[in-house]
Amino acid sequence: MRTCETTVPNAITAPPAPDVVVVGAGLAGLSAAWSLARAGASVLVLDRDAPGAATSRVAAGMIAPVTEAEPDHPRASALGVAARDAWPGFAAGLAAASGVELPLLDAGSLAIARDRDEAEALDRFRAVRERMGLRVERLLPSAARRLEPALAPTLRGALAVPDDLAVDPRRVVVALVRAITAAGGELRDGAAVRDVVVADGRATGVRLEDGSTVRAGAVVIATGPWAGEGVGVPDADRIPVRPVKGQLLVLRDPDGPGLVTRVLRFALGGGYLVPRPDGRYVLGGTVEEQGFDRSVTALAVHDLLRDGAELVPGLLELRIEESIAGLRPATPDGLPAIGASPETDGLWWCAGHYRNGVLWASVTGGLLADAMGVTTDAAPFAVDVDPRRFVTTTPGGPRDR
Ligand SMILES: Cc1cc2nc3c(=O)[nH]c(=O)nc-3n(C[C@H](O)[C@H](O)[C@H](O)COP(=O)(O)OP(=O)(O)OC[C@H]3O[C@@H](n4cnc5c(N)ncnc54)[C@H](O)[C@@H]3O)c2cc1C
Repeated sequence: MRTCETTVPNAITAPPAPDVVVVGAGLAGLSAAWSLARAGASVLVLDRDAPGAATSRVAAGMIAPVTEAEPDHPRASALGVAARDAWPGFAAGLAAASGVELPLLDAGSLAIARDRDEAEALDRFRAVRERMGLRVERLLPSAARRLEPALAPTLRGALAVPDDLAVDPRRVVVALVRAITAAGGELRDGAAVRDVVVADGRATGVRLEDGSTVRAGAVVIATGPWAGEGVGVPDADRIPVRPVKGQLLVLRDPDGPGLVTRVLRFALGGGYLVPRPDGRYVLGGTVEEQGFDRSVTALAVHDLLRDGAELVPGLLELRIEESIAGLRPATPDGLPAIGASPETDGLWWCAGHYRNGVLWASVTGGLLADAMGVTTDAAPFAVDVDPRRFVTTTPGGPRDR
């Protein structure tokens, strides 16, 4: 395993080069930066926008390894369970380091069937989770409505998913920014990175769009859905990340919280309603292959409100506060890419968190710090998330390490 050099020759001009420059201040980059800074590395985080302003700002905040479990991707699901288990400690540590309280919604989720087809789908959903050893509990519609009286009386079936959590991801971003600063790290927004500077097969820093160069001992690319674009890295280092669009609405109940008290999942695999502690509700989310398009469409808003109101009719009384879209950074195998880049020394990836960037935030930083040799926790999923798994060794291609 290569390690991150903590002593690097400084650039001719001050300030001294940090040990690590992280490109991208979404949940992935911030989580990485906090772990590295806590472990004693000097860290500079660069983002062309404000921290969390891209996908991480859009996330609904579900920490939902059970509802999101995919039998075709058992390691991704196992990583999700480990991350969920780590969340209470992560939230407490982050709150202590930042002074930002991070209340976790721990009432679990309810998966709801609105008609007979969905009830059959719910049965399959339950059977799969039981086979995977995940806790789910069938509920009569009347029992579901006792838990959530705002549910429509017409619902056909329900499943309690007690082990899912939720959090407000925007608060997590604020907390991470403060914790990184408190640990001695630095963040710079408005810093668009054009490419990675490579000399003799080693990343030595990044070049910004304004032509200036930031030298560093190591470079971490955490550019979320843009990671597949490469930020000017050599072709052999590129990893397959593609954007998957998601649109959602943020609604507000002027009377405050209480209409719904736990996460509701509906139109299985798609819809959700996530309550925030302050009376906001996140109603999501579409899943669309539209490239880098982040527009909000009338069709999506219509469908979200129609589906949501069939489930919770009282939703139509709420105010629309935001209609937003984000791009999930998807990889071919459903696992993120966290670790050494295939070809260039000193270049690291922390991207590809798809639908689970909030869920996996609790373990992302630890996995990267461990891969870089900054910490030595022997993270159990290191092999699963290693970006070099995407490399096929061909003559003249990237080397097999
Ligand atoms: C609708 C929707 C709902 C979601 N709900 C959930 C959920 O409930 N639970 C969950 O776990 N996950 C959820 N997700 C997924 C989650 O939002 C993502 O996995 C996560 O936010 C990805 O974080 P990131 O840091 O990798 O990317 P981003 O947050 O997109 O951060 C990447 C950053 O890189 C910066 N950047 C890019 N290129 C450059 C450059 N050249 N120079 C400088 N900066 C650059 C960008 O400005 C951006 O700030 C949802 C996603 C969507 C779209």
